[in-house]
Amino acid sequence: MQTISFVMGATASGKTYFIQQHYAGKDIDVLNIYDYQQKAYDEAGFGEKIPFGAAQFRCLKKAQDMHLRAIVEKLRQGRDVVAEQTFYKAKRRITYIDEIRKAANAEIEVYVMCPSDLRWQENIRERKLAGRFEAFKRDFVEIEFPNPAEGFDRIYEVADGNIRLRMDRPKKEITEQARKELAEEGKRIQEEEEERKKRKELIESMNTRSFWHYCEVCGKREFITAQDAFDRGWDYPPRIGHFGLLGPRTCGSCGITDTLYWKINAPGRLPVVLKEELTPEELITWERIKKEPKSLLNEGED
Ligand SMILES: [Zn+2]
Repeated sequence: MQTISFVMGATASGKTYFIQQHYAGKDIDVLNIYDYQQKAYDEAGFGEKIPFGAAQFRCLKKAQDMHLRAIVEKLRQGRDVVAEQTFYKAKRRITYIDEIRKAANAEIEVYVMCPSDLRWQENIRERKLAGRFEAFKRDFVEIEFPNPAEGFDRIYEVADGNIRLRMDRPKKEITEQARKELAEEGKRIQEEEEERKKRKELIESMNTRSFWHYCEVCGKREFITAQDAFDRGWDYPPRIGHFGLLGPRTCGSCGITDTLYWKINAPGRLPVVLKEELTPEELITWERIKKEPKSLLNEGED
């Protein structure tokens, strides 16, 4: 039977070093999550720059999927695998374990790096990592120590080279909580994806559909396509400017100097919209722009 050995721990806790020492001369495949994260960033067009927020979450999720697929593939080929993963949370580990149990017949073990402060600080110095040691330690507190209930065959604690089997009392509630969180996370991701898709479709449809064009200067309004608006001299997204971003919203008869955009971008002031400085008309324009393109679909929706 194949063995999949996970090696987990905080940054600079000695995962890579442990793998090099412990598996020296052994015929195994090492799959490092960081390689897959870099691949996911590259594919998403971020390169060396790490994205933030939802984009980062999507990249990390994709990296995890690729990593997991690669592990299963190797196990199925009859290979023993070592996988480096940060794996702080039980829910992340459960995702892997469930999938591996379904797809391959393998023993699943995990080594948790628990270095002494001294060793850890040395590692950080050697790798010339920025940041105070306390920040690294805070990270460590985030780690939920693996529990047998998650489905591991063996759990090891590694402290400065000493390997100790540590099978805590199985706690079913850990896995129940993790599965609940996973289900909620899955639902949230799906909803976000649908929202993103809908917004993209809506933005695309604005190129061809008729929608309300409001002149912020003279108050004229026309329900026309972007092409018609452009031909009639309107300054309006998607041809001029972007939906949701402050720019002129004028008909062919009105000029830019009477727009909110002009007022906000006046010389000598910060280009920031302060609601209390707006007239009631300007406030309506601003609220409408912020809610574009939705605010242009039905008359009076703003
Ligand atoms: Zn006008």
